[in-house]
Amino acid sequence: MKNYQPAADRYHCMQYAYSGKRGLLLPRISLGLWNNFGSNDDFSVATDMILYAFDKGVTHFDLANNYGPKPGSAETNFGKILKQNLSAYRDELIISSKAGHDMWEGPYGTCSSRKNLMASIDQSLKRTGLEYFDIFYSHRYDGVTPVEETIQTLIDIVRQGKALYAGISKYPAEQQEMAYKMMEEAHVPCLISQYRYNMFDRVVEKENLNLAEKYGSGFICFSPLAQGLLTDRYLNGIPVDSRAARHIGNGALNLAQVTDENIGKARLLNEIAVERGQSLAQMALAWVLHDKRVTSVIVGASSVKQLSNNLHTIDNLPFTEKELERIEKILAGTAH
Ligand code: NDP
Repeated sequence: MKNYQPAADRYHCMQYAYSGKRGLLLPRISLGLWNNFGSNDDFSVATDMILYAFDKGVTHFDLANNYGPKPGSAETNFGKILKQNLSAYRDELIISSKAGHDMWEGPYGTCSSRKNLMASIDQSLKRTGLEYFDIFYSHRYDGVTPVEETIQTLIDIVRQGKALYAGISKYPAEQQEMAYKMMEEAHVPCLISQYRYNMFDRVVEKENLNLAEKYGSGFICFSPLAQGLLTDRYLNGIPVDSRAARHIGNGALNLAQVTDENIGKARLLNEIAVERGQSLAQMALAWVLHDKRVTSVIVGASSVKQLSNNLHTIDNLPFTEKELERIEKILAGTAH
């Protein structure tokens, strides 16, 4: 888009929440670039989605070194879109990236060593053309690298000015708590913790959400729509252009995950959504945001239409006790 001018009313469309006990406000709905923004995707659709999001008050865009496909291309494309349209608005944006999953050949191109993270952030800064990231994450605890090594690297990255804040993603509870303590002692407290959370995957309710709250970290949820299962996308079959049918192969939803059980529950949930006057996607996002410990949800989208639908979630966030009980029954498989 040439000569882009952002919407003047962009900060009236969105709600913002503090990231835990920290001073940074994040939009309740953020946009993730894991899929649909890579070199295999339509660049003009990617551009339209990012600019639409910004026009609607979405200030936070979530990246990682390996997003594409091909890996790295989401950062490259985001950098281009930023340069062409949003460079004057850098101070209105919160841009995150991560390192820790497979990225380049050899022993240093994956996992959570100091070697990987330090090389990776430099590569990511280069691909995006940014001088700094707002948030830099350790993408995962790899099961081998000592937490101390990874977290010290995050602390150093912040001290070097390559990122303003640091975060962790998918850390099991034990390593999560170790990370929080170490970062607190170093006076580089964990800004935010990123985990999968949606109506179909509630593992974080056991420990991770409570720990984040205890240590004052914000909590941001990925795949809040279960990659599309909690939308109307699969209610009447599997569309050829859907994530499940595209065999993307980067850990994305596959056909085997579109089960009769999931679709049966989604249909029942959809009935409640209709009664609430919203789409199933909107109700699924509102449900995640309903937990006071949740700062933001990171949605994915393959079109402006989907994104627009998702952003309208803000229009109807509260649930009645009765609705919550009905949802619990459906999720437990005891409603018919
Ligand atoms: P979602 O659960 O939001 O799934 C997004 C997909 O759902 C879209 O691509 C689209 O599928 C479908 N969809 C979205 N909105 C609608 C709608 N209104 N109606 C119908 N279908 C809809 O999230 P993602 O799994 O994409 O994850 C979001 C972000 O979270 C990622 O981009 C990334 O930033 C982050 N993430 C982080 C991870 C980590 O390890 N830290 C792991 C995974 C994600 P379709 O393409 O079929 O149209």
